[in-house]
Amino acid sequence: MQWKELKARLLAVGTVSMSGEPAEQYIARSAAGPGAGGEGAVFFAMGSHRVRLALDPLSPLEIAHRGNGAADLYFEGNLIPGRLLEHGFHCPDQASITVTGNCIFRCRYCSVPKVGGRRKSISEIMEMVESVRHRIHALSITSGVQESIEEEETYVLDVVKHLRFFNLPIGVSIYPTEKTPDLLKELGVCEVKFNLEAATPALFTEMCPGLDYDQLWEALDRSVGLFGRNHVFSNVIIGIGETDAELDACIRKLTAHGVIPVLRPLNPVAGLSGMPRPTAERLNTIFALHEQALEEAGLDTREALTMCTNCTGCDLVPGRDE
Ligand code: SF4
Repeated sequence: MQWKELKARLLAVGTVSMSGEPAEQYIARSAAGPGAGGEGAVFFAMGSHRVRLALDPLSPLEIAHRGNGAADLYFEGNLIPGRLLEHGFHCPDQASITVTGNCIFRCRYCSVPKVGGRRKSISEIMEMVESVRHRIHALSITSGVQESIEEEETYVLDVVKHLRFFNLPIGVSIYPTEKTPDLLKELGVCEVKFNLEAATPALFTEMCPGLDYDQLWEALDRSVGLFGRNHVFSNVIIGIGETDAELDACIRKLTAHGVIPVLRPLNPVAGLSGMPRPTAERLNTIFALHEQALEEAGLDTREALTMCTNCTGCDLVPGRDE
């Protein structure tokens, strides 16, 4: 089975149980996004490819850790040898840090508000990065919204100012004000991700009450001019009620604007816990649409230096998952 097909089927399950040798050093605990506050996750790699799977003792998938990261994946009667990746906070190769682990908004697919984490101090963040500096190539920063969008932006900018000390590429994904792209650019940030989350404005309004779809588009357009093509990204979730045609239209609009879509299979938690994960067949269909749209727009995911398009753990990424 080819990697892309295998990954689609693994992402459709989304979880794995662990057996064998202790694997604590390979378990990433997430403070951001839909997986926040869960049991943790592991990254299973084959060659240069990888997939992130959330830990669940009841999962139909199993990884047996043989020691020192060597691991066998048991999947539909097959044994697939690979390895577990160490992470540099949340994802391998990057220190991916959630500055503020709580949020005043209530996006329906997100468990951050329920987890109710806290804001990290700048010295704490610097120590975190220092502790993994030897095994990372980039810094990725995201955040909830503790008091207001403007106040969060000010704090994240301060964090970024300090992180320049490490002289690594920095990617930032926060909910933007109209000034955010320019302010991040001035600080030397190299990539940004502003997440549309939903394929249509109507779905966005339903999923993210109180947030503004148009403002995201304005920030994306401004960012392409500042950061360049291949360095601006936007997450869109697959499986929150959109049709393939709606998703295709959203993908094509993003790529036509010079933005690389990050197409994230729904992890059904929080307000969407009753919804099914997208099937492998649908993920393959969307991959083909995504691949074609990127190609026609002349966008290349291999140029990404930071965040999810560089990591590839949670999504099928044309150009990288081949
Ligand atoms: S793809 Fe993105 S969300 Fe998933 S592990 Fe990598 S950086 Fe984190």
